[in-house]
Amino acid sequence: MDIHAMSDEAMRRTEAESSRYRSLNDYFREQFGGKVYKLALDAGMTCPNRDGRLGVRGCSFCADGSSTFAAKQVRDVEAQLDSAKALLARKTKADKPLYMAYFQSYTNTYAPVEILDALFRPVLEQPDIVGLAIGTRPDCLPEDVIALLRRLNQVKPVWVELGLQTIHERTTLTINRCYTLDTFEQALAKLHDAGIETVVHLIFGLPGESREDMLATVDYVASLPIQGVKLHLLHVLEGTALAEDYRAGKFSCLREGEWLDLLCEILPRLPSGMVIHRLTGDGPKELLLAPLWTADKRRVLNRIQATFRERNIRQGSAWTENSWQNRELENGCCC
Ligand code: SF4
Repeated sequence: MDIHAMSDEAMRRTEAESSRYRSLNDYFREQFGGKVYKLALDAGMTCPNRDGRLGVRGCSFCADGSSTFAAKQVRDVEAQLDSAKALLARKTKADKPLYMAYFQSYTNTYAPVEILDALFRPVLEQPDIVGLAIGTRPDCLPEDVIALLRRLNQVKPVWVELGLQTIHERTTLTINRCYTLDTFEQALAKLHDAGIETVVHLIFGLPGESREDMLATVDYVASLPIQGVKLHLLHVLEGTALAEDYRAGKFSCLREGEWLDLLCEILPRLPSGMVIHRLTGDGPKELLLAPLWTADKRRVLNRIQATFRERNIRQGSAWTENSWQNRELENGCCC
C-alpha cells in the first residue's frame, strides 16, 4: 500500500475490514510487529520492452513504467527516500516509522549485477528500512541477479513483484507484454528455489477477456508457490496505446458493479494465506481516461469493503488445492 495514496484514517478503516482477507498491513504486522510504510522509488531504470531490445512501444497500458508515485524527477535514490520519509512525517504521527523500499518504476533488475548490488545494498542497510520490494519482468532475472537477491534476502527480506497480468497468450499479444507464460514459470521457479517471496500483478478487464478468462488466470495464480498478489482493475491512461484503442471504441472498461461482482468471485478463489497487496487499480488522476468511477479511490475501497461485508465474502472460501488442475482436466489448457 503506497503511503501517498491513503490517509491514516483510511488506512485504519481498511485495516478494520481486512479480516475478510489477508491484507498487506496484516502481513507487515505479522512480519515486523507493526505498521510498515512502503516507499515507491525510481532508480532510473528502463525496460527491454521500451529500449528496443524487445520493443519500443512498451505494454499497451503502461504510461511510464508504472512509476505513478515515484519521484521521477529525482534519480538519486537516497534523496528520494529522504523526501518520501519527510512527506510521511508530515502526514502521520508515527514515532520511529518502519519502511519497505519499493523499486517500482520500469524494470528494476535490468542492469548489470554490480550496479544492482550498489543500488540495493545501501538502501537495505538503512536501519529503518525493513526490506526491499523489487518490481521487474520475469525475463530480466538471470542467474547472477537471482544469486544477488538471495544474498540480500539473507540480510533483510526481499520480495520480487512480477507483472503477469494474464495467462492468456492471445491477450499478451494484444497488450504487447513480450514474454511468454513459460518464461514467467521459469523465473518463478528460480525465485522459489532461491527462497525469495514473489508477488504477482494481475490486470482485470483487459481487451477481449471474458469473465471466464479472468477467473482462469485467478485459478492459475492461486495454484502457484507465490506469497502475494496485486489485483489491478484496468486503467486507461492518456498517452498509452490502450488510450488510442479506447478512443477508437475497440473495447470498453468494466463498470463499478461488474468489478465488485468480479472481486467477489476472485477473493474466495485465492488461498487464505496469500497476501492481497491491492484490490483495485491505481493510476494518476491527471492521466486517467477511463474508468472515471475509479478516480475517488477511498470511495471505491469503501464500496469494496461494504460489498464483501454484505455478501459475506472471504478469501479462500472457494479455494481448493486442485482448482487449477481440475480446470485443466475439464477444459484442456485454457491459456
Ligand atoms: S514491462 Fe513494465 S515498464 Fe516495461 S513496458 Fe511493460 S509495464 Fe511498462
